[in-house]
Amino acid sequence: MFDSLTDRLEDVFRKIRGQARLTEENVQTALREVRLALLEADVNFKVVKDFVERVRERAVGQDVLKSLNPGQQVVKIVHEELIEILGGQATDLDLSGSPAVIMVVGLQGSGKTTTCAKLALKLRREFKRKPYLVPADVYRPAAIDQLHKLASQLDIEAYPSTPDQNPVDICAAALAEAKRTGHDVVLLDTAGRLHIDEALMDELAAIKAGCAPGEILFVADAMTGQDAVTVAAAFNERLDITGVVLTKMDGDARGGAALSVRQVTGKPIKLVGTGEKVSDLELFYPDRAASRILG
Ligand code: GDP
Repeated sequence: MFDSLTDRLEDVFRKIRGQARLTEENVQTALREVRLALLEADVNFKVVKDFVERVRERAVGQDVLKSLNPGQQVVKIVHEELIEILGGQATDLDLSGSPAVIMVVGLQGSGKTTTCAKLALKLRREFKRKPYLVPADVYRPAAIDQLHKLASQLDIEAYPSTPDQNPVDICAAALAEAKRTGHDVVLLDTAGRLHIDEALMDELAAIKAGCAPGEILFVADAMTGQDAVTVAAAFNERLDITGVVLTKMDGDARGGAALSVRQVTGKPIKLVGTGEKVSDLELFYPDRAASRILG
């Protein structure tokens, strides 16, 4: 299993303990375990290949072969490389602009609406901001109601959009309204579809052009594994996203999506959704995620 990669590696080295010297083949065996564990965790195969190659280069260098505790050495290298591939440092949200504009995009059901509400709450609580929620998903009328309900629960103001309005107009008008009413961060909850679709992408591009968001956060359902990667790449190509929110990390997703999405888009994971409650949103820390992956 993915979450016991540490055990797997230590197992490999336990078997060969007592050998006078470690051989390159021993390291090879350990790397095979790394490779398998990552593939089982649904990490994109190309990403796995590059990753294992990087670990190999370091492992067959002097570090491991001469080390007294090769198991721990390999685990350490894997850990360091995981942090690196996950982006190194935590990446801040760009809250510049008055108001700051955060556009939230992704497929239907990925968790956009929930994430908007969660993020608004976080911005108010932890960043002392005055957020404004903007429902702009007119194709799923329940989405507008859903965000309005969440907003009123949290006592956060929301733009009174209606399903008959044009999303591009909603966003522009909401931005003007936010300025007028002294809100310093605007969250645009945009429409999604079940699949990537050109009309949707055009609409999102028009909203981007009209509102010049400092952040375009792509929301990915961590449970969808490889699919999340393909979709992320498509959104990034069209919209040049600024970051990723991985939702449903509380499920039994093994975290593979985090590695792949980061590597394929080159964009940082900024936030993680860890449950259905409005407080279940955390900043993404590569070192913590790497530790969780290692188990
Ligand atoms: P949207 O269509 O992208 O706006 O998706 P929604 O925000 O409506 O979310 C779809 C479903 O996923 C809802 O039932 C949410 O409660 C659920 N959801 C969203 N984020 C998370 C999360 O981090 N963890 C869990 N367990 N469920 C989530």
